[in-house]
Amino acid sequence: MKELLLVRYGEIFLKGLNRPYFFRSLVRKILYALRGTGSSVRIHDGRILVEGFEDLETVTDRVTRVFGVHSVCPAVEMPKEDFDAVCEQGIRMMQDMTGTFKVEARRSDKRYPMGSPEINAEMGHRILEANPGLKVNLHTPEHVLNVEIRDSAYLYVKVIPAVGGMPVGTNGNATLLLSGGIDSPVAGWMIAKRGVQINAVHFHSYPYTSEQAREKVLDLARKLSFSCCGIKVHIVPFTEIQLQIRDRCPEEYSTLIMRRFMMRIAEKVARQTESGALITGESIGQVASQTMEALEVTNSVVHMPVFRPLIGFDKSEIIDIAKKIDTYELSSLPYEDCCTIFTPKHPATRPKREKVEEAEKILDAEALIAAAMEGIEVVSV
Ligand code: ATP
Ligand code: MG
Repeated sequence: MKELLLVRYGEIFLKGLNRPYFFRSLVRKILYALRGTGSSVRIHDGRILVEGFEDLETVTDRVTRVFGVHSVCPAVEMPKEDFDAVCEQGIRMMQDMTGTFKVEARRSDKRYPMGSPEINAEMGHRILEANPGLKVNLHTPEHVLNVEIRDSAYLYVKVIPAVGGMPVGTNGNATLLLSGGIDSPVAGWMIAKRGVQINAVHFHSYPYTSEQAREKVLDLARKLSFSCCGIKVHIVPFTEIQLQIRDRCPEEYSTLIMRRFMMRIAEKVARQTESGALITGESIGQVASQTMEALEVTNSVVHMPVFRPLIGFDKSEIIDIAKKIDTYELSSLPYEDCCTIFTPKHPATRPKREKVEEAEKILDAEALIAAAMEGIEVVSV
């Protein structure tokens, strides 16, 4: 008898010609998540089985966070020939349960001497005898004991939901503008969930922003990197650009001009890293630079799609996800971001694009951007 974890994936994205590609990719991501647990992965009958682990809880926690996994079932694998032994195992698995149940047998080995209805009836009967706290309910049971008769017998009761989504990398690359705030890590996680490999860009204005602020962003990237299977963080020196904007541009447009520079630089990094899109944590009306007019002004400098998965989310909804993916605490550490230094007292909330373009003409954008690109430091987490 062997304990293992049966991994279930979304059949929908595995249909069609791309199936072997998605499947291989999913297996690689599961192997990546299991590093250091001593467990191994066996592919059998089109199914993914994790085995050889010491600690079921750790392995379950890791696998349920892999994008593309829809649920996992802690299962027992045993020889199918001795039906009494299979029944005894079923009885053990149901011994602490109360309420209603049914046995659901599936037999892919058609030479097995008993049919599925027969297995259901006989096993159900023996379990009832052993555990008087249970009652049979065939339509809406609280517990289902699954018995699969294949090369061996597989038994499982619990189905633990996993994160879902698609394996990272199967839907291309995108570049995330990652601040130290609550929103952008959540935005990155949501796009990665759809199978997109994430690169990150962070704008850092040392000494106006601190070393701790930079470390905090790297820590956030490390948190994300488990689900995202590694992230390259591009740290862009942004002080000179911010100082020039502060000293030479109208104060009411300073945040918008700064954001236009961020987007231009992020797009350059995106092209260098073969990303097909940018990702931000913006949400309509959250701050002055996220009104619809302001978004139009920042968006107009880029020529690739910008994904804003949080656009329609309330802050409280974003916080719920941040807690779920365990970035909330880190994001709440009180270090300043380059967006929060030099903030204007009265930022324009209904800016006109032409006016902002006019106001930033005084800067040598090309030279400033080239210098910032030159100073990029790449940290792999
Ligand atoms: P967050 O949105 O991550 O909570 P925030 O709300 O402080 O941070 P905003 O001022 O709302 O940031 O900025 C909107 C978006 O711009 C962020 O979600 C992020 O994608 C991007 N951004 C802001 N600051 C930075 C930065 N220093 N480096 C990289 N991207 C940034
Ligand atoms: Mg925000």
